[in-house]
Amino acid sequence: MTAMTADLHSEVIKAFHRKEFTTPVVGITGGKGGVGKTTVAVNIACALADRGVRTALVDADVDGPNGAILLSVELANPVAVDITVPQIDEQRCNSCGDCVRACRLNALFMPRGKQPQLIGECNGCEACILVCEPGAISRGRKPVGMTYLSRIDGLSLYTGALIPGFEESSVVVQAVRERAFGDAAQFDLILIDTSPGAHCNVINALRGADTVLAVTEPTPFGIHDLELILKLLDLLDLGGSVVLNRADLPGDSRKVKTIAGQHGRGLIWEIGMDDLLARSYAAGVPVVREYPRAPSSKVFLQIAENIAAAYGI
Ligand code: SF4
Ligand code: SF4
Repeated sequence: MTAMTADLHSEVIKAFHRKEFTTPVVGITGGKGGVGKTTVAVNIACALADRGVRTALVDADVDGPNGAILLSVELANPVAVDITVPQIDEQRCNSCGDCVRACRLNALFMPRGKQPQLIGECNGCEACILVCEPGAISRGRKPVGMTYLSRIDGLSLYTGALIPGFEESSVVVQAVRERAFGDAAQFDLILIDTSPGAHCNVINALRGADTVLAVTEPTPFGIHDLELILKLLDLLDLGGSVVLNRADLPGDSRKVKTIAGQHGRGLIWEIGMDDLLARSYAAGVPVVREYPRAPSSKVFLQIAENIAAAYGI
C-alpha cells in the first residue's frame, strides 16, 4: 500500500476495489485532456484483440466519447440512461412544502399558496418522494444519456454518452461501466478509458480497476496534471505505470520520470512523435492495425504483451 492510503478509510478503499467477477480491469486515464489517452486506449485494445484476447473497451469519457470515431465504428445497440424525477399529483398535494425543504439542490420551488414545481437540475435522489407523507410524488423518468455496444474485429466497444446540456455525467459513467461489467464473463480483459482530470467521474470510472495506465506528455501542463492524477491513484491504492506520449515534444521528460518514480511507477512507456500514428489517427484507423511496424505500434504492442503476461491471458 502507498503512503497516502492512510488518508482514506480502509473500507472506502475496499469498496472501491470490490468487483463481482474475476476478469481483470485496466484503467486508462490522464490528468490532462488532449494527451492522446483515447488513442492509447484504442490501440492497446486492438493489439490485445488481435492477440486473441477477448477484450472490452469501455469509453467512459461520457462528455465527449470518441473511441468509436477512432475505430471508425458506428454506435450500436443503444440503451437509454435515465434518472428518477418527481411527478407531483396535484390532487394529493397539500402544499406542506416538505419536499422543497428536503431538496438540497433547490430543484423544487413552491410559489406562495401553490404547489411545488420542478424548476432546477434534479439528480434523482428521491429525497422528496421519501418525505412526502400524502404520497403525492411518484417516480417519473428523465433520459440523461445513452450507452452503446459496438463490435469491431474482435473488440467490443462500450460507449457512454451524456445528452448535451445535461449534467448527470456520473450517472452515465456508472451505467456504461455496469453494462460492460455485466458482460464481464464474456471477456478476458476490460479496458476503461476515463475522462481527463482527477474528479469524481474519473474515480467512478476506475471503480473495480486492478491497475491503471496514466497517460501524459512532457509539457508543463502534462507534468502538473500527471502529479494530480498520480496522487489520486495513490489515495485509491491503484498501482500501474505511466505512458509518456509525444515523448520528444520540447519539454521535460526527465521530470515525468522523476514524478512517476516518486509515486512508485517505475515503468514508463515512451511514445515519440510518429507520422504514421498521426496519419492513422486522421484516417480513423488504429495505428497497430494500419502500420504495425510503426514506432508507436511497437510500444502499443509491447504494452499489450505486458498486460497479457501480467494476467496470464
Ligand atoms: S411534500 Fe408532498 S404534499 Fe408536501 S408540498 Fe411536496 S408534494 Fe405536496
Ligand atoms: S429527486 Fe432529489 S434532487 Fe430531484 S427534486 Fe427530489 S429531492 Fe430534489
